[in-house]
Amino acid sequence: MVTAKKFVLVKHFEGEPKPDDLKLETEELPAIQDGEYLVEAEYLSVDPYMRPYSARYPLGTTMIGSQIAKIIESKNPDFPVGMRVSGYMGWRTHTIVNMEGEHVFDSPPRLLPEMKTLMRMRFLSPSLGLGVMGMPGYTAYFGFLEVCKPRAGETLVVTGAAGAVGSHVGQIGRIMGLTVIGITGSDEKCQWLTEELRFDHAINYKTQNVEAELKKVAPNGVDCFFDNVGGEIASTIIYQMNAFGRVSICGSISAYNNDASEYPKATIIQPAAVSKQLKIEGFLVWRWADRFSEAFKTNLEWIQKERLLYRETVTEGFENMFKAFAGMLKGENIGKAIVKP
Ligand code: NAP
Repeated sequence: MVTAKKFVLVKHFEGEPKPDDLKLETEELPAIQDGEYLVEAEYLSVDPYMRPYSARYPLGTTMIGSQIAKIIESKNPDFPVGMRVSGYMGWRTHTIVNMEGEHVFDSPPRLLPEMKTLMRMRFLSPSLGLGVMGMPGYTAYFGFLEVCKPRAGETLVVTGAAGAVGSHVGQIGRIMGLTVIGITGSDEKCQWLTEELRFDHAINYKTQNVEAELKKVAPNGVDCFFDNVGGEIASTIIYQMNAFGRVSICGSISAYNNDASEYPKATIIQPAAVSKQLKIEGFLVWRWADRFSEAFKTNLEWIQKERLLYRETVTEGFENMFKAFAGMLKGENIGKAIVKP
């Protein structure tokens, strides 16, 4: 008999998530049936989408989320003991996976390729399947390349630039030969972007005037804008775009703690969109689900050639899931925020 620990949603988030909105419970798991397998979480992800998406689920639901988990018992030959899966099992330590069950994002768990084999000599943590080699990595790859259609010599601005998606997008921009400007929330993050990831410029939106700084570092205007944040910063950037610029709207984290009835107001963007004939497109990464293997392969090649660097902010202890989640929403992470139970 295996006892699982899990976090259950007991109150829908209002404003900033609070520790009491979730409750840590235990659950005795039954014996597995034919076709099922039992997994133990090795790494759990905390992501911005959890804040708005959790409102779609009834109270009592296990908090939504993805994890990398090891198969510890199996009655499914396609999922043998010892292999790892990446899936949306939620915030829980142990899970019985039934392939016929319902899956968040309509995405059943997938076997994770053996990272050791992939990298030959170099150790690659399976946790990368939650970040640079998983959903955030696919988001960066398709959301930037397919929506912005970048060309060498152009100028790219990325918001949320030191996070999982943003840090990846900026580096693809650099690989493609663009001038890359990242906007983020601390000097330490700015330094990481320019000194290690080789962004051309970084702006700290908490201490610097984004409009004035952008005019200095992008005097010829912006061609591609990858937006993770929304709000007034996004409007400011859009007003510095060149004719036929492309905006990829990936997220709007600056408003995730607001109810739809009280979304923040920002300067309207239509005058810039019309006069500069901008293309502005939102996307969900699942649009390209049938092409994820392409992004996986290319991201892996870039990692192997050390053209794509990554960083993880790891919180230890399953009981600290909430702390990691709340911290990520406040910007405490650099790169991908994960939890090691
Ligand atoms: P992340 O960037 O690693 O972490 C969130 C970051 O957001 C924080 O570190 C913080 O960094 C920043 N932030 C928080 N509040 C902010 C505010 N008020 N203004 C500006 N920045 C703020 O998270 P991620 O997983 O890479 O996700 C980034 C964005 O991509 C999110 O908007 C997410 O919803 C979106 N996303 C979309 C898709 C899709 O399919 N469309 C898929 C995945 C992710 P600072 O220190 O810089 O403030």
